[in-house]
Amino acid sequence: MPVLANHHALLRGYGRDMWELGWTPESLVQAAQASDRPVRFLLQALDHVTGYREDPLRKKSMLLALCLTQRPEKWLDAGDGRDLAPVVDYHVMRTCLRTGIVTIQDETLLQDLSARRLLRPADEAIVRLACRDAVLRLCAVSGRDLGAIDWTFFSARKRCPETTEPECAACLLNPVCAHQKGLFQPVVRTTFY
Ligand code: SF4
Repeated sequence: MPVLANHHALLRGYGRDMWELGWTPESLVQAAQASDRPVRFLLQALDHVTGYREDPLRKKSMLLALCLTQRPEKWLDAGDGRDLAPVVDYHVMRTCLRTGIVTIQDETLLQDLSARRLLRPADEAIVRLACRDAVLRLCAVSGRDLGAIDWTFFSARKRCPETTEPECAACLLNPVCAHQKGLFQPVVRTTFY
């Protein structure tokens, strides 16, 4: 996101917080891995670090945790998976809305999403929370883990992009999709995702 003032503030905040807490990325991951619940440890630690702590849904810290658990090196043990949560970014929200696993009842919000208008933060938060819950329920009914569902939705962005027409015929989700192609993820200015 080309907002240089944000880059500067986030980088300085991240560096200051890590320095004050006496952490390095390596020491933090090692401490997490040595704990009883490595994912929870890492997420709770990052709740104190600028650049991660601002987002109530912990998108960046959860994505980092998932990456670390899924690397071939297994830098972080996911345990029984109970500490993992969905990584809710704009690709996931767009796919949730277009496939119909999240439906919008409010006519004004529906129009705002379709017209790609800048949303009020409260409206964005409602849509984002609904998408988080929908992904969790999808995991429960499918029996698939979060990593698999997240990858399916994230991969769908290639066939269901932001700036060009969706390619439904080539999309994995086509047989079950509601094809709400006019819908778009919430438009907001945020450093969360
Ligand atoms: S089937 Fe079409 S509308 Fe549905 S997610 Fe795939 S590309 Fe998007």
